[in-house]
Amino acid sequence: MGKPIAEDQDKIDLRIVRKDGGLAPGSFGKTGEIWFGIGGDAITLSYWNGTRGLGQTVAIKRIPCHLGGSRVSFVCPICARQVMVLYVGENDFRCKACAGVQYLTQTKHRPARLLLKAERIRSKLQASEDDPTCKRVARPLRMKHETFERLKKEAVRNYRQGQRLLAR
Ligand SMILES: [Zn+2]
Repeated sequence: MGKPIAEDQDKIDLRIVRKDGGLAPGSFGKTGEIWFGIGGDAITLSYWNGTRGLGQTVAIKRIPCHLGGSRVSFVCPICARQVMVLYVGENDFRCKACAGVQYLTQTKHRPARLLLKAERIRSKLQASEDDPTCKRVARPLRMKHETFERLKKEAVRNYRQGQRLLAR
């Protein structure tokens, strides 16, 4: 099983909250499935998707800007990192790293990149196309033994990783 995909996860993005109604203390509203109420140094979040609910007060950090106003970020309840987006986790809200999500755009091209890399190395090794794990490849005449072994390993590793990601 792969990591959850960020685009599928319920989340709250402070940039959207700011655009929709501001982050002044006392503001409240809803974004996606998440209600929020903003205080001076915390934000109260409540999530309900029809079957599952979650409520939590999360610290926020206000950093005054020199032109007035302030920049606001969440403090991740798990790792204390300052982030703009919190995801709905199993039992709490948490940042992208703590939620273990990754963006679809990051996963989409990765297998193709890995396979392409494997292919490039194999062509350097003059491996035949039906030998993706380099079982029958012979060391090119002028290539050092270590280089050959290293490239072979790299080709196989990239190929396997690419295949594994494609199979998910
Ligand atoms: Zn975190």
